[in-house]
Amino acid sequence: MGTLLHGIAASPGIGMGRVFLYHAARVSTGDRLVRDQAEEWERYRCAVERFCGELREKAARVVSVAGQAQADILLSQIAMARDPSLEEAVKAQIASRQSAETALDAACAQFISSLLESENEVIRLRAVDVQDLRDRLLRILLDLPETDFSALSPDTVLIADALPPSAMTALASHPIAAIVFCKDGKASHSVILARAMEIPTVVGAGDAASQVRDGEWAVVDGTAGTVLLSPTEEQLRESERKRKAYLRGREQLNTYIHRPAVTADRFPIRLTAGVGSEGEIRQAWKYGCDGIGLLRSEFLYLDRPTLPGEEEQFHVYSAFTRIVEGKPLVIRTLDIGGDKRLPGLSWEQEKNPFLGCRGVRLYREQEEMFRTQLKAILRAGAYGDVRLLIPMVTGLEELRWVKAVLAECKEELQSRGEAFSLEMPLGAMVETAAAALTVDLLAGEADFLSIGMNDLTQYILAVDRDNVKVSHLYSHYDPALLRSIRQIFSCGKKTGVPISVCGQAAADPLFLPLLLGLGAEELNVQPSFLLSARRALAQWTREEAASLAEQALKLKTEAEVCALLEENRR
Ligand code: PEP
Ligand code: MG
Repeated sequence: MGTLLHGIAASPGIGMGRVFLYHAARVSTGDRLVRDQAEEWERYRCAVERFCGELREKAARVVSVAGQAQADILLSQIAMARDPSLEEAVKAQIASRQSAETALDAACAQFISSLLESENEVIRLRAVDVQDLRDRLLRILLDLPETDFSALSPDTVLIADALPPSAMTALASHPIAAIVFCKDGKASHSVILARAMEIPTVVGAGDAASQVRDGEWAVVDGTAGTVLLSPTEEQLRESERKRKAYLRGREQLNTYIHRPAVTADRFPIRLTAGVGSEGEIRQAWKYGCDGIGLLRSEFLYLDRPTLPGEEEQFHVYSAFTRIVEGKPLVIRTLDIGGDKRLPGLSWEQEKNPFLGCRGVRLYREQEEMFRTQLKAILRAGAYGDVRLLIPMVTGLEELRWVKAVLAECKEELQSRGEAFSLEMPLGAMVETAAAALTVDLLAGEADFLSIGMNDLTQYILAVDRDNVKVSHLYSHYDPALLRSIRQIFSCGKKTGVPISVCGQAAADPLFLPLLLGLGAEELNVQPSFLLSARRALAQWTREEAASLAEQALKLKTEAEVCALLEENRR
């Protein structure tokens, strides 16, 4: 009998395959002394050649998913690896009988400390490039496997404590069978990416990593939240049967492709997609939707040592306007902080990052970075229906500050003679308790609002969305959330400002009728949920949904709300 572990269902579906255990390890160089210096230099040169070859291959793969600009960043490391001053420094160390790896480490340490001493921030940021180069070269020299997630075979079950969102992007073009995160909470950004890629995922699977070895079989049920380690032949056959049944269910959903999103009484609901990459926009377009209601722009900033410039961003956003063919493209400005860090930005450690310098709060500190993004978005607005959305807003002052900066960006673009959107709609995320309580004030000065249920749940309930210890408390069924949504719609709607709902709750087929009953007319879901959302909408009239909401609002606990919704599952 295999070992069955219970975790938390995070991305639906069943995946089985061979386990790949991922440990983020530090590379240590050892202290081997060298006899033959020429041979050691040759070792170093071969490592650099291999590094450059691998980088070219990776860049070719990155072009198709993330575009040329991302690939160019990878390629710039080739020039760095061949930099004559680095070569000289390594050579000098080897001449004093150091091994190639110790020589490289010492040479890079010199470079890193001199870069870090610079007054110029751009130069300081280059230290990250050198560290990355050093680590990758060291792995080649020491014959340590570099974790190239894109090289994993499709039948891999990846088991890791947690992964940074940047590592997940490598799986976008090379999906694997399933993922198990021992630690990550179900609303972490890595899990959101896993869902977007339709990779069955279980989180909070405790000590899964210590109970299995690389290459052993595992079955992950991302719908039930279980992980079966070392299954028997019989269990494997049974799991394969379940997997096929799940896939057949998905096939039935395909009848909803490109159908309009309407309730059972034919009331049209705007159904938009929430995306974080070009691949996801294409996926949304395959299923059909009313536009991109939330483009998480972080993908442009992650997984690279420097920040993207205005031209690069403009090219990406304007290319997206061509894909969406005149439908709205809501670009959310960078939402960094919380669980996301940028390699290209120096960062002070914060005790409570989700309550710290996140989203709009960071823009005052990094105003140039914010202005660069605003200008790129404004320029893309000349090519389509582009709208701006600001994350993590807690009050009107922030929105007013953004408006003032936006006005200055427009002036600058005007003086440069650039084409841009003069009247771009500006929206605010309602995802903090403060925003929810002052939604009438925000609605008075925003063109649209978007309820971010993932964060609203976190901030209303004071439950860290990534902390598996409290993830049983993280639930949008909580009466506090229902009251909050009711208050947002009743206050916001008086102003006539459109309000959409995004986050995992909007795609939950049990919760969706409740949102409908509370007044939602626009829902934003990940592309993989567009079809199931349409099916759920088609099963409810507005009157039935309103009555369900009325009953739910009378309940006193999360469990009662959950039971009511289960009873009404269709
Ligand atoms: C949300 O908070 O619900 C949301 C849509 O944004 P994110 O998950 O990217 O924080
Ligand atoms: Mg959010």
